[in-house]
Amino acid sequence: MKIIDTHSHIYSEEFDNDIDDVIARARAAGVEKILLPNVDVSSLSRLHDTAGRYKDYCIPMMGLHPTSVGEDWQSELDTIKQQLKTRSYIAIGEIGIDLYWDKTFEQEQKYVFEEQLRWSIEYGLPVAIHSRDAIAECIECVRNVGPEKLRGVFHSFGGSIEELQSILSLENFLLGINGVVTFKNSTLSTVLKQTDLSRIVVETDAPYLSPVPYRGKRNESSYTLFVVQKLSEIYGITDEEVGEITTNNARKLFNL
Ligand SMILES: [Zn+2]
Repeated sequence: MKIIDTHSHIYSEEFDNDIDDVIARARAAGVEKILLPNVDVSSLSRLHDTAGRYKDYCIPMMGLHPTSVGEDWQSELDTIKQQLKTRSYIAIGEIGIDLYWDKTFEQEQKYVFEEQLRWSIEYGLPVAIHSRDAIAECIECVRNVGPEKLRGVFHSFGGSIEELQSILSLENFLLGINGVVTFKNSTLSTVLKQTDLSRIVVETDAPYLSPVPYRGKRNESSYTLFVVQKLSEIYGITDEEVGEITTNNARKLFNL
């Protein structure tokens, strides 16, 4: 079985006590790579430490998360840009718009998102998009900057059929599917029938969103297995085929 965990915060303090075991379990489960999205300036040293410790296995992205866009957004953004100038990254992420938690900085979130979309073109990198209650707004920003020059993933997709179709209308964009697909109250398995695996990559969003049977517990990359199993049930193919197709999608998108 091959899997790439395309979105995981395993550099966070939840993993301080057993990160080596977490990585060993991921390798044993067939996880080939773990991609690490940044959050903001405060997460930089943890992100780089983990990426350095598991070089070529845990691969960092760089970006400013929308929930970290506040009064000091300009200096946050400047520091994040500085990182891009000095190191190499697999993607710009995670970036986007989040109107679920707080709408105070909605305009700033949009500006910061579009600015980072422009960076992705400048550096030739894909983007990992965080969108919460803001799919239409995110798509508008992508269209403002230039959808034909951008490529990326809408991570942690859990939306409606209409939202799915609006994302898929952007040719170079995929859906990141995680443990939410295994939740009993999720309509995602029905929604996903409107597309096929060619537009899907697998992720955890660890430490959040653990799949059933670990729902509510800390998530980790080896649990991508449960996401793969659910996808194989939805599309009526084997786990191995799901692993093969989604891994190839991830390799292509992230130039792995
Ligand atoms: Zn994330």
